[in-house]
Amino acid sequence: MDLLVYGIGQLAIPTGTAARRGPAQGEISLLRNAYVLVRDGRIVEVGRGRGPRSAGPTLDAESRLVTPGLVDPHTHAVFAGNRVQEFLARARGEKYTGGGILTTVRATRAASEEELVQLARPRLLRMLAQGVTAVEVKSGYGLTPEDELKMLRAIQRLAQELPVTLVPTFMGAHAFPPEVPRAQYVQVLIGEMLPRVAEEGLARFCDVFCDRGFYTVEEARRILTTARGLGLGLKIHADELAPVGGAELAGELSAASAEHLLHASEEGIKALARAGTVAVLLPGTAFLLDEPYPPARELLEAGVPVALGTDFNPGSCPLASLPFVMSLAVLKLRLSPEEVLTAVTLNAAAALGLAHELGSVEVGKRADLVVWDAGTFAEIPYWMGQNLAWAVIRDGRIVAGPACPSP
Ligand SMILES: [Zn+2]
Repeated sequence: MDLLVYGIGQLAIPTGTAARRGPAQGEISLLRNAYVLVRDGRIVEVGRGRGPRSAGPTLDAESRLVTPGLVDPHTHAVFAGNRVQEFLARARGEKYTGGGILTTVRATRAASEEELVQLARPRLLRMLAQGVTAVEVKSGYGLTPEDELKMLRAIQRLAQELPVTLVPTFMGAHAFPPEVPRAQYVQVLIGEMLPRVAEEGLARFCDVFCDRGFYTVEEARRILTTARGLGLGLKIHADELAPVGGAELAGELSAASAEHLLHASEEGIKALARAGTVAVLLPGTAFLLDEPYPPARELLEAGVPVALGTDFNPGSCPLASLPFVMSLAVLKLRLSPEEVLTAVTLNAAAALGLAHELGSVEVGKRADLVVWDAGTFAEIPYWMGQNLAWAVIRDGRIVAGPACPSP
């Protein structure tokens, strides 16, 4: 698609094609009175002023702020059923143990691929309407070969149908199915599920819940090493509940990202920095579980690139708003608005292996950008819980927001 976006009051972007870390994470390039020219879905020109005369479609941003399309690098957006009862129990003071995952497993197993698509479609469109143009989605509520593949096929269908970039992650190692002995299930993961997922090209990453009560470091290492051998990228749900060595393992395997990290050890943080592994922090989960927030400043100061995601899922985090997570990151993680903007664009894209394509507005990248009803990007976290996305542009086409032409 071709498009000229002009009248941009402020274009705010982290620059580059790799994750930014340390002080560089807080360095945002600002271009005032700017335009962006798109040809065939790619950015071909960025500059000051009105831009070249264009015969193609144009959008006057009327002095509004423009940022890259937001990237949510961690969700469990495909599932059936809900866990309202668990939410209410938590509100009465019961503690989260992760056991409720099996409630969602039962509902997801009972649903067809078509039903999963129907359920996830409006969720993803609501995320898109808030400026999120790329979303990672994990399997992990099937826990049998057929049900895990069904989830991944649902993600694949949604990716073909919706104007959102979906990055599928195989997470059969999300929990243990109650009907199979643990060691046998790990064998099924390694010997059956991973080869089928790789053969059918259904996932770009493999993720393992490496934590107390879930997969041990040894089990996670076996699963992830197999995944790597099959050509999948690696992610680890690391040290959310206890410091079990998940961050250390992520560093050892040079994983693309390590997620949660609430209880990551000092050694683990050093290992992430050495490997350049992106820390995907999920403050919405801490907020909803009323637990301590991840050590964002410590990670940043140790030189670990930090990204932010929603962790959207029916149990620990029914929150799907990345802009709200940006508010939490400023208020609770003590990140600057600049660091937050990098965390939800370029660094989030890097966590998905897409920093060369997405995450900034520069010549050669895909034209994913958002025009916001705001003058400065600090207003996005500041106007909490409000949707300021005015025009959401994906691959050069306006796909959501009040400025979107009605179909
Ligand atoms: Zn998760």
